[in-house]
Amino acid sequence: MDKILIKNVTILTMNKNKEIIENGVVVIVGKEIIDIGDSSLESKYKDFFIIDGNGGILMPGMVNCHSHVSMVPFRSLADDEADRLKKYIFPLEKKLVDKDLVYNGARYGICEMLLSGVTTFCDMYYYEDEVARAASRLGIRAIVGETIVDFPSPDSTEPYGGLEYCKEFIEKWHKDELVTPAIAPHAPYTNDSEHLIEAHMLSQKYNVPLIMHVAEMDYEYKKYKEEYNMTPVEYLDSLGILDKNFIAAHLVLVNDKDLDILQKREVGVSHNVGANSKGAKGVAPVVKMYERGMKVGLGTDGPMSGNTLDIITQMPLVGKVQKLFNKDRTLLPSKNIVEMATIGGARTLNMEHLIGSIEVGKRADLVILETESVNMQPIYDYYSTIVYSANPSNVDTVIVDGRIIVRSKKILRIDFNDIKRNLLNMKDKILCMIKEI
Ligand SMILES: [Zn+2]
Repeated sequence: MDKILIKNVTILTMNKNKEIIENGVVVIVGKEIIDIGDSSLESKYKDFFIIDGNGGILMPGMVNCHSHVSMVPFRSLADDEADRLKKYIFPLEKKLVDKDLVYNGARYGICEMLLSGVTTFCDMYYYEDEVARAASRLGIRAIVGETIVDFPSPDSTEPYGGLEYCKEFIEKWHKDELVTPAIAPHAPYTNDSEHLIEAHMLSQKYNVPLIMHVAEMDYEYKKYKEEYNMTPVEYLDSLGILDKNFIAAHLVLVNDKDLDILQKREVGVSHNVGANSKGAKGVAPVVKMYERGMKVGLGTDGPMSGNTLDIITQMPLVGKVQKLFNKDRTLLPSKNIVEMATIGGARTLNMEHLIGSIEVGKRADLVILETESVNMQPIYDYYSTIVYSANPSNVDTVIVDGRIIVRSKKILRIDFNDIKRNLLNMKDKILCMIKEI
């Protein structure tokens, strides 16, 4: 099915002028969008597979700029406990994280993303070769970053063994169409400066992304102030590792000078409002970042941190938290938030030439939101409907790279029940293990 025509939709192009086309048509050949217009286009294209959008909203596929998708088996565990990371997660990860858990967790999490309209995600965890495999099989676009830490990790018994894994992993995947390998030093405080520089050199050598949690934790901020009289951003900049390939997650504890540095170095930002608020981390200055024209996208963080992997539930939080915190309801209009969820995310990941908007020549990564459900009417403003009315269950159809992956709210070509059974088996294993720790 390499010729698809989508009709009877309102197209939110998210192009430079944010054009909206009512009763629109999008034509796809192979992986690419080849034509966009009004309903008169339909008669021009014969023998195309027709998708009737039934009056729904066609938008670019959403981009999840930060996740740890394989942590889904741990979701909702000890959510409200202060010391859950040390008490539960680290011991469980030590005992349970292996190739199987990473692969099967990734399969489930990727299904969750696809069913909610995420067509590209950026991941960071261990055994990322398994995440890459799952992404490739399920047909989602992904940046997958192998975690590097200064101590033995689940997939490397030697200190800093992750770097060797990473070299092989990048070699294996760096020519893949859908999966982009990356190097992911976990955070400034879990890697010494020498290894951060080495990781950056690897990112430069292969021209692959470098993903890191930055300026997220109070103790991180304190450490760099005490040891270097610098902010975490100033410290990273002093190592010379901030550049266009750098994708920074969180950036909660940043000041105006930090933003100057990040903007100058063209660092991509993943704003993870759900995880930041649930973890009581603070409010990131995302309005300032957006207004400066920085590369800002949205991320969920891991399913333990934010309990979800979809972007639709992040969008209202972005607006509400900023409006509440700044006591100003005019901040961040919905259009800007949809921008962050789509083309903004694409910019953060340096993929804006390929994805993030509905334009001729771009890859066909598309989502249809149905407007029949009770929560979706009336519509006065399409952006506002997406941000404040929609939920993930309104996603009807998802196309990635010209392939129909979700139709009528069902994931095609795979047995989701099998994936779900697998997840529930992992849950049983985790419950047994909890009794032992
Ligand atoms: Zn994270």
